[in-house]
Amino acid sequence: MKSVIIIGLGPAGLFAAKELLNANYKVISIEKGKAPKERNKKELLFGVGGAGLFSDGKLNFNPFIGGDLTEFVSLEDANKLIEEVHNTFQNFGMANGYINQTEKMQELKERAIKSGIRFIEIKQKHIGSDYLPGIIDNLLQNLIQKGLELHLETDAQELIIKDGKIIGVKTNKGELFADYILFTVGRWGSLWLNKIAHDLDLKTTFLPVDIGVRVETSQEITKAITDIEYCPKFHIYTKTYDDFVRTFCVNPQGFVVSESYDKFINVNGHSLRDIKSDNTNFAFLVKIKLTEPAEDSNSYAQHIGKLANFLGSGKPILQRLGDLKTGRRTTWNKLEKNLVQPTLKDVVPGDISLLLPHRIVTDIVEGLEELDKIMPGIASNYTLLYAPEIKLSAMRVSCNKNLQSEKYNNLFFAGDGAGLSGDIVNAASTGLIAARSIIKEN
Ligand SMILES: Cc1cc2nc3c(=O)[nH]c(=O)nc-3n(C[C@H](O)[C@H](O)[C@H](O)COP(=O)(O)OP(=O)(O)OC[C@H]3O[C@@H](n4cnc5c(N)ncnc54)[C@H](O)[C@@H]3O)c2cc1C
Repeated sequence: MKSVIIIGLGPAGLFAAKELLNANYKVISIEKGKAPKERNKKELLFGVGGAGLFSDGKLNFNPFIGGDLTEFVSLEDANKLIEEVHNTFQNFGMANGYINQTEKMQELKERAIKSGIRFIEIKQKHIGSDYLPGIIDNLLQNLIQKGLELHLETDAQELIIKDGKIIGVKTNKGELFADYILFTVGRWGSLWLNKIAHDLDLKTTFLPVDIGVRVETSQEITKAITDIEYCPKFHIYTKTYDDFVRTFCVNPQGFVVSESYDKFINVNGHSLRDIKSDNTNFAFLVKIKLTEPAEDSNSYAQHIGKLANFLGSGKPILQRLGDLKTGRRTTWNKLEKNLVQPTLKDVVPGDISLLLPHRIVTDIVEGLEELDKIMPGIASNYTLLYAPEIKLSAMRVSCNKNLQSEKYNNLFFAGDGAGLSGDIVNAASTGLIAARSIIKEN
């Protein structure tokens, strides 16, 4: 029986394990964190279910959202993978029926185009942060029944190499050996994976990062659109800089939250299936890709994150759009009178233009003014902006279309940690691609 070590049990690792167990492989999984129901919410990025476990659980069934699966397979196969991921989630407890009014999407697309904005049509489902851990636990129990060897709270530390061949993984609890190693380490493990890639002399490339704010407004302003597409994705090129700005992670009747990263506090948003607020929040992000001589866009974003933390004494900065436009600091007094009340109160009312570069501030203001053409009211003075919202990216580890290392043919990669995906569905799909490539080897 051929064996595979899977490092990381986020969506990519879980779906790869499912595929390999079904093909009668011995699957040894190493996961730094705990099982879904034992995870603490502070362990945001690690544990079975990965970074997605306490997420909003919005699933985008589109091969071009959260990555681009057609880099690895044909469009037809990409759509089949998406369908398979959908069916698996459904088998383990996801509700039936999409949440979008697909019949009204074409009309919204036309309205957006007329305003110079691209609207991306996506079939979506919303599991909710309160239901996702149960679904992932159902999947895990099924894998255990099929024979998954599970090493929880175990840290993969180094590869074991003998006679130039990679034969296993050294962990904090001992050594494990297998024919193949699949890295599905997600964001949490991406730095470690970079180190491994560096030690093995594997090529890596920097990917762009997203820097911006979390926008919060009254749900009445977004409802006409979020009733058509729950998490609408709008792509805008700004007037002054021709920069790419997009809406991301829209949470109708949701809540803004802060999350702690290694080096800074970031903002994010989520929504629950059972508890609702009066507001909608979404990320409004500017894509930044640095070229020479400083190519490392992640470090650039981290510097901004650290500056924001310095200014907010470790709390996110909150400003009304009207104050940002007129160059004035927002205060608690102004917030008390504001039409939109913040769902996140543990913030410092302040001035975002002191922490985000002028170019990014200009992109955000102009982008919101463009968006106002199809979402009237979003560019009002009362709209709230929380900063920073930063989406770091992993480095892309060089691999072929089978997600296999070109240098060591028993090493495979999938998911966000290797820079191959950026959301739950696409991470899971790359897990399936990598698992099938291993199976094809034999
Ligand atoms: C707050 C938040 C909200 C999000 N909301 C959504 C959403 O609504 N919809 C959506 O589609 N996507 C969402 N995402 C993104 C989504 O969670 C990720 O794209 C997805 O989880 C990536 O899957 P993955 O398997 O590649 O990696 P991950 O899910 O990150 O899993 C990787 C796993 O590897 C483990 N690991 C890493 N290194 C090691 C090591 N050395 N040894 C042992 N184990 C290791 C980690 O503990 C982790 O469990 C969200 C992300 C965050 C952070």
